[in-house]
Amino acid sequence: MNTNQLCPCQSRKKYQYCCGLYLSGKKLPTTAEQLMRSRYTAFCRKDVDYLIATHHPDKRTDNEQKRLAIANSMKNTSWLGLNIIDASQGKKTDKIAYVEFMAVFQTDKIQQLHERSKFIKIAGKWLYLEGEVLPDLIPKRNDDCWCGSGKKYKKCHGE
Ligand SMILES: [Zn+2]
Ligand SMILES: [Zn+2]
Repeated sequence: MNTNQLCPCQSRKKYQYCCGLYLSGKKLPTTAEQLMRSRYTAFCRKDVDYLIATHHPDKRTDNEQKRLAIANSMKNTSWLGLNIIDASQGKKTDKIAYVEFMAVFQTDKIQQLHERSKFIKIAGKWLYLEGEVLPDLIPKRNDDCWCGSGKKYKKCHGE
C-alpha cells in the first residue's frame, strides 16, 4: 500500500498521518477511538501482529493456532467501510472507554458488524478489551443504505 493513499479508516487523512503512525509504531493512539480506527485499518491490511499487540493480554490470542485462525478468517474477508457512531471520550483520566461503530465487510455477501467495543488504558496505552455485538443498523427506507453503495436502503439491502 502506498502510504500517500487515504487511510482505510475513512478519516479522510492520508494513511501515513493517520493509522500509519500507530501501525508503524511511531506513535501510540491517544484516544480509544484512534485505537479502534487503527485496529480496523489493521484488519484491512491483514496486520495480525498489530491486532494481537493491541488486544488486552488476558484476551489475547497469541498462540500459533489462534494466530492462524485470525489470518485465515482475514483471507476470506474484505473490509469495505467504517462508521464511528459514538465515541464519547469521557475525561482524560478515564481508564475505560467505549466506541460504538458499524463496519461493512464482505465474505460471500456484504454484511455489517455493529459493535460496542470496550477499551482499557493500561500504563498509558489503550488496549481493546472486548466487544458486544449489537443488532444490525436498519436505515429508513429512503435513507442511504448502510453498505455504502450510495443507493437508498429500499433499493439496496432493504429490498
Ligand atoms: Zn486511519
Ligand atoms: Zn446496501
